[in-house]
Amino acid sequence: MFKCDVCGKDTDKVLLNIGACCPGDCEKQLVEEYNLYHRELLTERLDDIPETFETHDFERFTLKYAIHALEVMSKKTRDKIERNNPMISIPENFALHVKEQVLNFLPAEAVHQVDSVGHVRMFSGGEYSFVKPIDKDIIIDAFYQAGLLERSQKSVV
Ligand SMILES: [Zn+2]
Repeated sequence: MFKCDVCGKDTDKVLLNIGACCPGDCEKQLVEEYNLYHRELLTERLDDIPETFETHDFERFTLKYAIHALEVMSKKTRDKIERNNPMISIPENFALHVKEQVLNFLPAEAVHQVDSVGHVRMFSGGEYSFVKPIDKDIIIDAFYQAGLLERSQKSVV
């Protein structure tokens, strides 16, 4: 049993990547909030980023990166993804891959990481949190090192 993210009542309904909710009005509200959040991230400039990143800033930015990347992707690339790895076309899944790549290039002492082992690893690489806020230049540099940004790009992202 789960708790509805909207009203807090017990429910057994879970929308993948969105949350738990009662069927009906709560579900409708939760989906609307989810869509609104995605639209909000899409209207923000990608280089509009905080000076320092705490864990939740990193979560938000990687999702924003994923949503922007999917938005500007050519139809050809998108069709290829839909054929070969359709899960990646879901922004949260795309963001998960981005996080896994970028975390490899952040200073080890700044990130607390617990790697999953065994079959759980198929679904989640583990958990992480920032020990202290990380400067945006370090985050951006990690994106470059992970090959997620091109050095030739004039703007930050
Ligand atoms: Zn509810």
